[in-house]
Amino acid sequence: MSGQFRIGPFVRDHGTYIARFATKSRSAPDRLSVTEISESSDCLSFRLEFPEKPVVVTAWNTAQPDTSRAFERDLACLKLLNETGLTPRLLGHSGEMRLLIREDSRGQSLNSILTAGNCDEIAHSLGQWLRGFHEKMPQKEADSAWFKYLKNYPDLLDPEEYEREEAFLRSLRIETQAIARNDPSNAGFMRLKSGALCADSFARATYKPVGWDLLLAARDLIRQFPGQTDQIIAGLLAGWGSDVAAMSPADFIRLTKLFCIATAFRRYAGSEPLLRRYANAWNAQRTKDQRKVTTVIAVPYKSDKQHPPSPDALREFESHLRKIADETNDQSHTITPDEKRNAETPAPILGAICSACRGRCCQHGFENHAYLTGGSLSRWRADNPDITVENLCRKYLAYLPAQHTENSCLYHIATGCALPRDMRADICNRYLCYQARHATEQMPPSSSTDILIVAQENGKPMRASITDMSENYPVEAEILIKTTIPS
Ligand code: SF4
Ligand code: SF4
Repeated sequence: MSGQFRIGPFVRDHGTYIARFATKSRSAPDRLSVTEISESSDCLSFRLEFPEKPVVVTAWNTAQPDTSRAFERDLACLKLLNETGLTPRLLGHSGEMRLLIREDSRGQSLNSILTAGNCDEIAHSLGQWLRGFHEKMPQKEADSAWFKYLKNYPDLLDPEEYEREEAFLRSLRIETQAIARNDPSNAGFMRLKSGALCADSFARATYKPVGWDLLLAARDLIRQFPGQTDQIIAGLLAGWGSDVAAMSPADFIRLTKLFCIATAFRRYAGSEPLLRRYANAWNAQRTKDQRKVTTVIAVPYKSDKQHPPSPDALREFESHLRKIADETNDQSHTITPDEKRNAETPAPILGAICSACRGRCCQHGFENHAYLTGGSLSRWRADNPDITVENLCRKYLAYLPAQHTENSCLYHIATGCALPRDMRADICNRYLCYQARHATEQMPPSSSTDILIVAQENGKPMRASITDMSENYPVEAEILIKTTIPS
């Protein structure tokens, strides 16, 4: 079903239903101009040019259970904001079809008009819009502090940042939470002819401390114009028009800088504008039968150059192996459910991610003897109690490949690890680098959209592939290279 969730078939099947909300007639015209806004296996968004009134349709895939929450959040916010001018008017909806039909606001997308020269003025408009949105949304009491709140997101701030700012963050109380738009990107905003802003996607809306949306809006602008951090924050605050949740302006500015600077330019999150450029570069040159990508994941890179292991390295490894194999006579090892689970085949997205990277994390497996210990061998021996120590060693030695990846573990080959998962050290089965962990946490399990995976070294795309979770195919990293130079 997810494979058939495309704009064309959807309009053919439901055009007449949609026409009821857009025209006085009960039938759709024979020919209708359709403009794609976005298309994924979860959600379609498109513009339909009815002669009387163009409309924008968002349809969530009913075959994907995860989409019902997104639809409900979207609908609830659109209803609360209807007729405020903050969002296009809702013309109709269907819960059964997870379908929303809105007026076409005919604005310019914020990203298309955003420049270094107007980013403070746009920050002001965003502050105003977010204030208007906040005033229409439900609120509830809370009893927390920003220190505790941000600690729930260990990837947002490093432990040193918490330590350094602990007293300040503890002093910032959170006494109210309100529904926030909670979108890390300002890309969904449009500027109307009147100059006012308008937004129409609320699929991530949820309760957050008051001011959360200002932090996200600031971060997205500061990523693009880091030299104008002060002006951007000042613009947002001026647009909001009063203190944010009883914080003094000075405290809010300090919180925003801490949040933005710590999260906007670090690791995976820091490269998001670049990832958008990768997606644009791929989408611009793809062939007709290749689908658009909307998700890009940046991962580490390891060269897959192979060479034979040196005799010294082999000798050292064998001596380590004999030592730890002997230890298995004295160790009884009960396999924990976690170890068993870790040894199972990983999720397809992880397979695709690690295969694009080619195993950067395995490079320290060389000096650490594949991380194998008496415990790891005892674990395998517990499942194979009849094997002798000698045969146990032979078994492990037999899996050593004739060639291994240069400067990496002796079991590391171009296609991954030559050792079966149940024979590897538990750390090999459970370790995930930040990028892999982040990507798997962010990726909806049901997503089957095409995903572009880019392995980067020093900010340069070195290798790329596309996955739809069931199949991966490599693509030329060359086509992405020009996008690493910001325009
Ligand atoms: S966990 Fe990270 S470093 Fe290791 S292979 Fe996967 S992507 Fe590469
Ligand atoms: S044993 Fe396999 S997974 Fe572990 S470090 Fe070596 S190549 Fe990587």
